[in-house]
Amino acid sequence: MTTAFITHPDTLLHIMDGNHPESPARITAIKNGLIKQDVYNHLAIYESPVATDAQLAKVHSTDYIARIRALSPKAGLVRLDPDTAMGPMSLSATLHASGAAILATDLVMQGKAANAFCCTRPPGHHAGRANSAGFCIFNHIAVGVAHALTQYKVKRVAIIDFDVHHGDGTEDIFKYNPQVMLCSTFQHPFYPHRGFDSRTKTMINVPLAANADGKTYQQAFSHEFLPALNQFKPEIIYVSAGFDAHVDDPLAGMNLIDQDYIWMTEFIKLVAKQHAQGRIISLLEGGYHLPALAKAVSAHITSLMLA
Ligand SMILES: [Zn+2]
Repeated sequence: MTTAFITHPDTLLHIMDGNHPESPARITAIKNGLIKQDVYNHLAIYESPVATDAQLAKVHSTDYIARIRALSPKAGLVRLDPDTAMGPMSLSATLHASGAAILATDLVMQGKAANAFCCTRPPGHHAGRANSAGFCIFNHIAVGVAHALTQYKVKRVAIIDFDVHHGDGTEDIFKYNPQVMLCSTFQHPFYPHRGFDSRTKTMINVPLAANADGKTYQQAFSHEFLPALNQFKPEIIYVSAGFDAHVDDPLAGMNLIDQDYIWMTEFIKLVAKQHAQGRIISLLEGGYHLPALAKAVSAHITSLMLA
């Protein structure tokens, strides 16, 4: 079975402003990197559908969905919060990004792909039930997880979030849902300045001081995540795959290298093999140094392909 790679042309048309680090060039760099490493030809490429309002409404309030639709501009930019804006194609981009999580769930749950990587933007893990934040409009991983819970009657879902920023939107959406475990490493103190004091049995938040390297991440995964995951026994694992803890990333202060992304992916594969029939769905979140992003994603996907 193959690794599915899910994207959509409109993901390149969401533009916040000319020099914004969360830019279409991120997707182009990833795709070119995969072609250069001879990985792209071995992936099953899919174009994502849009998520429906009913699918979004499993994790977002209907008022919020309606507000985003109403605010979508015909021209120019509409600012949703200090960090997030919408242009004319942003609504389509974010709907297709949530739709990628839906399609990935269908492919993996129906046994049509071993695992999947959603190469879409804007990212999603800061978006809460009724708010945008941190470049995120809708929370795609949450939409995918809710689809698995409702459509496939999956009982336990784990989310592993190794983006350098805490997935606070994902926590907001699932913190009272005993069927969802979030395992999140993040730089602290750092944006969004949340999650560091809210650990519960299913919210395994592991704040890490700046300059953490692979060894620190391995300890967090092995000593904090693994016991919790082994007890929880997820039936499918979603990954908020942000690559902004990379040593070259301009927005954050961590020291991960490509090898560390391979280690984390192998860790997730082992847990998935043991508990979840190998089911892994990974979604692009952050990562803003284009060459580093391209190489780290390529390492992550290559590891996924060797399932
Ligand atoms: Zn991030």
